Amino acid sequence: MKSWGPVLEVWEGYAADLEVRYAGSSGGLASAIALYCIEQEAMHGLLHIGADKKAPLENETVLSVSRDEIVARTGSRYAPASPCDGLSMVAAAPAPCAFIGKPCDVTGVTLASSLKGELVEKIGVTIGIFCAGTPSSQGTLDLLEKEGIDPQTVEEARYRGKGWPGKFSVKIKEEQMPLEVMTYRDSWGFLQKYRPYRCHLCPDSTSEFADIACGDPWYRPVKEGELGQSIAVVRTERGKEILKGAMEKGYVILKKTDPSILEKSQREILQKRGAVWGRILTMKMFGIPTPKLLGFSLFQNWLKLTFKEQIRSIVGTFRRILVRKYYMRRRTNFTNTIFETHRKT
Ligand SMILES: Cc1cc2nc3c(=O)[nH]c(=O)nc-3n(C[C@H](O)[C@H](O)[C@H](O)COP(=O)(O)OP(=O)(O)OC[C@H]3O[C@@H](n4cnc5c(N)ncnc54)[C@H](O)[C@@H]3O)c2cc1C
Repeated sequence: MKSWGPVLEVWEGYAADLEVRYAGSSGGLASAIALYCIEQEAMHGLLHIGADKKAPLENETVLSVSRDEIVARTGSRYAPASPCDGLSMVAAAPAPCAFIGKPCDVTGVTLASSLKGELVEKIGVTIGIFCAGTPSSQGTLDLLEKEGIDPQTVEEARYRGKGWPGKFSVKIKEEQMPLEVMTYRDSWGFLQKYRPYRCHLCPDSTSEFADIACGDPWYRPVKEGELGQSIAVVRTERGKEILKGAMEKGYVILKKTDPSILEKSQREILQKRGAVWGRILTMKMFGIPTPKLLGFSLFQNWLKLTFKEQIRSIVGTFRRILVRKYYMRRRTNFTNTIFETHRKT
């Protein structure tokens, strides 16, 4: 599909394990599928991220090997994370491992596997999460300060989960109970302004390179107290096989749904993908280096935007270039931000 990458099947549902479902960001599907892979598919562990034990507002890459470890690391973390920096743990593992990450992380696994053939055998399954962009760590610090909370006193922060979509909550050192700071909507509304520009140039918000991609079924309002639900997009035959096994063994409860649920649930993501062509065109007009993004039907997606959105993708980028002085980068070595993504299908 031109806007959503390879789509073999779309399902909606949740983790059968109530604790995983409750703790999970949406319906705990990503964690439940990974748990199935470890317990039933003889995978060694799950490479993903969790809160850094020493710096709880930051993230660390971990290889979880038990249910408890996976449950402790459920939930979306709206701060930089780089699970690919743990691929050496997967390479050294005695059996294949599952991987969970954002679309760019999954792309990283794909690229690393193409360079290091031995990884192909070691990556048992890639589970991608949808991602509209990752806010910088400064976002969380500013959010806490705005709410009068000293970041130094925070022992644990959860951006969502523990209910759907859950609340941004923190546990303050020496306090017994976590403090619910604000709703997911309000916290994301604040944090999203801290997404780096590279995220605004990313056309893949739904983990198109993953075997299975998980996101939120936002196509309908969430009722008060409702338990979590997720969307699962099956992208490969491997993903199909794993999801079927997870259903048969009772790890996940799913019902097949129409792919049109994606468009109804993820309007922001669709709009972002559409804007990429206009943004890149404007950057090129200024001679600013841009990512090479092949196979994402960028122009066709831009054409689907309203006229107002099309204009905004160009004028907004023009304004950004001037305000943030991106034009100064024309002659500098910008190669570290150049990123080649080619979709095979
Ligand atoms: C920055 C960000 C933006 C997102 N934007 C959207 C969006 O626009 N639309 C949408 O539907 N969903 C979005 N999500 C994904 C969504 O929040 C859920 O993660 C997804 O629905 C899976 O839910 P789950 O209950 O199955 O996951 P869970 O079972 O709770 O598992 C979540 C997994 O994600 C991993 N993870 C958490 N944060 C990160 C991170 N920053 N980087 C890499 N891995 C991480 C955890 O290690 C865990 O394994 C976003 C997530 C993030 C982190």
